[in-house]
Amino acid sequence: MKPLIERLRAIVGDDGVLTSGAALAAYEGDASQDRGAPTVVALPRNAAEVAEVVHVARQHSLPIVPRGAGTGLSGGAVAVEGGIVVATTRLNRIRRLDLANRLAVVEPGVVNAELTKTAAPHGLYYAPDPSSQPACTIGGNVAENAGGAHCLAHGVTTNHVLALEAVLIPTGQVVRVGGPAHDRPGYDLMGLLVGSEGTLAIVTEITVRLLARAEGVAAVLAAFDGVVPASEAVSAIIGQGIVPVALEMMDGMTTRAVAQGAPASLPEDAGAVLLIECEGLREELDDKDGPLATVQAICRAHGARDLRIALSESDRNALWKARKSARGALGTLAPNCYVHDGVVPRSKIPTLMARIEAVAAEFDVPIATYLHAGDGNVHPNVLFDARRPTEVRQASAAGEAILRACLDLGGVLSGEHGIGTEKQDYMSWALTTTDLRAQAHVKLAFDPDEQLNPRKLFPTPGFCGEVRGASRPPREPAAQR
Ligand SMILES: Cc1cc2nc3c(=O)[nH]c(=O)nc-3n(C[C@H](O)[C@H](O)[C@H](O)COP(=O)(O)OP(=O)(O)OC[C@H]3O[C@@H](n4cnc5c(N)ncnc54)[C@H](O)[C@@H]3O)c2cc1C
Repeated sequence: MKPLIERLRAIVGDDGVLTSGAALAAYEGDASQDRGAPTVVALPRNAAEVAEVVHVARQHSLPIVPRGAGTGLSGGAVAVEGGIVVATTRLNRIRRLDLANRLAVVEPGVVNAELTKTAAPHGLYYAPDPSSQPACTIGGNVAENAGGAHCLAHGVTTNHVLALEAVLIPTGQVVRVGGPAHDRPGYDLMGLLVGSEGTLAIVTEITVRLLARAEGVAAVLAAFDGVVPASEAVSAIIGQGIVPVALEMMDGMTTRAVAQGAPASLPEDAGAVLLIECEGLREELDDKDGPLATVQAICRAHGARDLRIALSESDRNALWKARKSARGALGTLAPNCYVHDGVVPRSKIPTLMARIEAVAAEFDVPIATYLHAGDGNVHPNVLFDARRPTEVRQASAAGEAILRACLDLGGVLSGEHGIGTEKQDYMSWALTTTDLRAQAHVKLAFDPDEQLNPRKLFPTPGFCGEVRGASRPPREPAAQR
């Protein structure tokens, strides 16, 4: 252990190596349920130091686990086999704002909200806005292909990343993929790295697109008696050809929890609320046949009983603060919360919501749901007390039943939180063995010894090893060599 620590200190400095029990405890988990203690945490300051740390990990045969802010909800940053956690805390500079080309070059540890704050004086912003944006990093967003409330019209992280610099395993080579110009020749390696959950390379620089603020923005808060009429309003809005920038829903339980502490005073007696944001030219928003008026008319036609329009920035911010505090607010209802992230075709939302209600009754667990309704990404939060083994079992079984329902309805396991350790057991429900093997070949092409973020994503710990073994040519019998 001592030579390892000394070697790391020589690379990243004394203050860049964490070894004490208390310090390591802070890096044991993320916002998921899983835990794993790192052997040591390294805090490199540039790509060259990351590459050196990779060499040290190789010499000591230790796993490497990249980590941003640890807000992940699928266990991606958890060191399940110990090893060196490479945290990007000190890789946190915004290197360049290129106003002419509307892009920013950032280090992976830059906090999402800081980028928009820095770009704001120029009328620009970074569009992907996970609810965790005051804490989560752009590197973590890239690894998880993060989404957010305002991703319906503008797209998720992958639609905003133009180029990446990354350190490869096991060589420590620093490579660049993508670039500011559109459509590079060759394979789309950048597309592959975005969403690879820290299992293919360590990202050390990111070039992202910045968008200009729209001239007019308005948010509508609509209260319904239940999730079914609210879901039908969602389908009707999209069916009219209107794509709001955000189209979010909270069920009654979530709305009540948020209302307890939110400045926006949400209607506590609602069975569901929709929060819809439209943007465009001011005249468009004022037009009585424009998208804002149409959205309100559709909500009314589907039984909305309380409609509020927020035109000023402060009113809109209060509504968004309320929506983005949903997960935290659920902490007032139970000590633990197992959040899921399935996606279903939008038209199946009412069916899924009915199934979730049935699952809650069957397993006797409260489930509070909020969703990026516009793109069918549903976050049911199973509430439980981890100190009670029966509740843990019930919560886990309820989660499993919900994910099964998402797949049965033609959906997928995860819209934005990733697979990590939390959903890896279900990968064989979603993908055939042939598909999984193809994916394992991609992993092995980048990381032949499975040193980077091992035991994530694939359904069994040895899956990649089995694929590697099977793809090696059979050995010649000894006598014929
Ligand atoms: C209250 C709350 C609300 C949330 N809301 C949303 C939401 O609206 N939308 C959404 O998409 N997510 C949401 N999340 C989940 C989480 O915030 C995102 O997944 C976020 O992208 C994780 O960023 P992070 O910096 O915390 O990464 P971490 O949790 O530290 O790591 C996440 C993954 O990224 C990898 N990683 C980190 N940095 C690098 C790097 N430099 N190179 C390679 N791999 C790297 C890690 O290995 C890990 O696999 C929420 C979480 C919480 C707690």
